[in-house]
Amino acid sequence: MIAAETKAVAAKGYATHGPEAKFAPFEFTRREVGPRDVLIDIQYCGICHSDIHQARAEWEPMMPSMYPMVPGHEIVGRVSAVGSDVTKFGIGDIAGIGCFVDSCRECPSCTGGIEQYCVKGSAQTYNSTEMDRKTPTYGGYSNKYVIDEEYALKVNATDDIAGVAPLLCAGITTYSPLKRWGSGPGKKVAIAGLGGLGHMGVKIAAAMGAEVTVLSTSPSKEADARKLGAINFVNIKDADATKAAARSFDLILDTISANHDYGAYLSLLGLNGVMVVVGVPTEPTPLNAFSLIGGNKVLAGSLIGGISETQEMLDFCAANDITSDVEVISPDRIEEAYDRTVKSDVRYRFVIDMQNA
Ligand SMILES: [Zn+2]
Ligand SMILES: [Zn+2]
Repeated sequence: MIAAETKAVAAKGYATHGPEAKFAPFEFTRREVGPRDVLIDIQYCGICHSDIHQARAEWEPMMPSMYPMVPGHEIVGRVSAVGSDVTKFGIGDIAGIGCFVDSCRECPSCTGGIEQYCVKGSAQTYNSTEMDRKTPTYGGYSNKYVIDEEYALKVNATDDIAGVAPLLCAGITTYSPLKRWGSGPGKKVAIAGLGGLGHMGVKIAAAMGAEVTVLSTSPSKEADARKLGAINFVNIKDADATKAAARSFDLILDTISANHDYGAYLSLLGLNGVMVVVGVPTEPTPLNAFSLIGGNKVLAGSLIGGISETQEMLDFCAANDITSDVEVISPDRIEEAYDRTVKSDVRYRFVIDMQNA
C-alpha cells in the first residue's frame, strides 16, 4: 500500500456543453483519493447508445441532462493509487467501472446486492451527482477516475482490454436477464436486434449453452449472427420466416431501441415464454393484453446488474473468452462515432482509447 494522495486529482476529458454542442477537451478535478478509494488511469471507454441519448438530451424529462457532460460508463484502466484501507486492488491491477459509482448502502436493494435499484437513487457514473447530491459526476471519456473500491470491478488482464470495456454496460445488461430467466442448455433463446447489446447477448447466451436465434430486420447481419454463436436467424420483415418461428422460443431478449411492436415479438414465444426488454425506444408502445394472456407469457424489464453480479459476469466472460467486438478510436472522433452508432454503422461497439488523452 502507498499512502493516499492528499490533493484533488487533475483530470482531462472530453465534454459536451449542450444538446447541440460538439465534444471538446475539458479539464476538471476528481476528489482526492480517500482511504477506501482507488485511482484508475483510464485506458479505454466504450460508447454506449445511452451516452448519445444523454449527451443530446433525448431522455428529458425522465433523465435530465447536466452540462458540461463527460459521458462514458464502460471503463477499464489500470489502478495507479490506492487508499490506506483498500484491500481489493493493488497498484497495477486492471479495474473496471460500470454505470454507477456509489449508492446509499443501507436500503434493501443495496444490502441485497442490487445497488442499481437503490431506493434513494444510486450515483450514476456521469450526468449525475455523488451521493451528496451536489458534486457532479464525470464519466469515462477522461483519463482518470477516483472510485470507492467497493464499486469498482476486478478485470482479468487480457490482450483485449479494449474489448472488455463494453462488458461493463452491454455485457451486464444482457447477462443479468439471460441468467435470471433461465438461459442455458435445452432453452431456445432469441436475441432481438443485433447491435451493441444484441451481439453481447448472442455471445453470452451461446456460452450459457442455449440454442440462440437472432431476430433482426437486417438480413445482411445473418452471417455475423452465426459467427457470434447463433444457430438460427429470422428476418423479422419476412412474413413466412416469422410465421414459421411462431410460438417457438422460451426467452426473447429484446435489445431494440427503435420503436417496434412488442406484440409481434411476443407471438414468437411458446407457452410460459418470457420476453425481457432492455432496449429503450423513444415512444411508448401499445400492447394487446391477449398477446400475454394466451400462452401465460411474461413481459419483463431489466436494468444492468449489481456489483457482485457484474463481477460474476466479468469472470464468466473471462472463463469463456468473451469480449465485445470493438472499433477503437481516438477521442477526436467521438462525433463521428456517435453519428455512425445512430446509423448502426459499427460492428459492434466503439471504444475510445483514452491513454493519450
Ligand atoms: Zn450503457
Ligand atoms: Zn440504496
